[in-house]
Amino acid sequence: MADRKVVIIGSGPAGLTAALYTARANLSPLLVEGLEAGGQLMLTTMVDNWPGFRDGIMGPDLMTEMRAQAERFGTQIVQGDVTRVDLEHRPFTMTFADGTSVTTESLIIATGASARWLEIGSDRKLSGHGVSTCATCDGYFFRGKPIAVIGGGDSAMEEAIYLTRFATKVSVVHRRDTLRASKIMQDKAMANPKIEFIWDSEVADVKDGGKGEVTGIVIRNLKTGHLSDLPLDGVFIAIGHTPNTSLFRGQLELDSNGYIQTYSGSKTSVPGVFAAGDVQDHVYRQAITAAGSGCMAALDAERYLEGLHDAVSTTAAAHAS
Ligand code: NAP
Repeated sequence: MADRKVVIIGSGPAGLTAALYTARANLSPLLVEGLEAGGQLMLTTMVDNWPGFRDGIMGPDLMTEMRAQAERFGTQIVQGDVTRVDLEHRPFTMTFADGTSVTTESLIIATGASARWLEIGSDRKLSGHGVSTCATCDGYFFRGKPIAVIGGGDSAMEEAIYLTRFATKVSVVHRRDTLRASKIMQDKAMANPKIEFIWDSEVADVKDGGKGEVTGIVIRNLKTGHLSDLPLDGVFIAIGHTPNTSLFRGQLELDSNGYIQTYSGSKTSVPGVFAAGDVQDHVYRQAITAAGSGCMAALDAERYLEGLHDAVSTTAAAHAS
């Protein structure tokens, strides 16, 4: 007998929507909230593309509402670091860092994706000392200072535009000469007089001048190989995300980029295990699509559990007759 019918790992839009739907289906879900509680929307400012808010809503406010709504219908939310999952034996087992564990008949994985680093050594070393992956968390510290944003996608443009509120100048360093960002974000960034673009370039090093705080970056032009120094106080890395799937490696089928492979909706390679949100989506990656897939995972889990219990009742009836 499992402790739970449904456990959800992850508390972004996918996890909380799955929780809302499974709670409303009387499945009393347990939602495990990890270290990045609330997911990526906790790191954004104004969300203008969530339907229903004509003037936009702040990312953290939206997540607070979603959490409260899931709880209103009976979701139990716990903070916990899941260190091991056993998807080979049923019921599935999740083990936490403190050694406790929980068993469940079905599992919804909504662990999302985490910000990528440049992996040049000095970026991680100076994390929190001028290097950041979150403009909304750290932008305020760079009032009146020059900074750089690395990347050419929507996140980089969004961060660059936001950071112009504080910084004197924002240099966007991008490895190509065209942006990946949507046209609307490109236009907005290019029209901002505080933003300059440094094309065809990568960050070769982040300097601290022996002070333990960022003092500048070394930029390598990828066409000429030329190295140049750019003095500044902050570096914001916005080069995409890595799916949080290490817990499931070897137990679930992953695609070549490490995302969970899903079939006909949210089904994974293990019956009874479902995946939703950015952990299984490297194409759309929007809050609204994550929420939509959380709903799909909840409905798929509900149907799976109905099938499971119908099978148990049929077997019991056959034994009784
Ligand atoms: P992304 O679209 O994957 O863009 C990542 C950017 O970083 C690309 O420009 C890429 O360069 C660059 N990059 C990747 N690895 C790099 C490395 N090692 N060194 C230097 N540059 C590197 O990621 P994203 O901007 O985080 O966006 C992810 C998804 O969220 C997208 O679907 C986006 O539309 C969505 N999003 C939407 C909004 C919004 O609607 N307001 C806001 C943020 C994000 P290349 O271009 O050369 O590959």
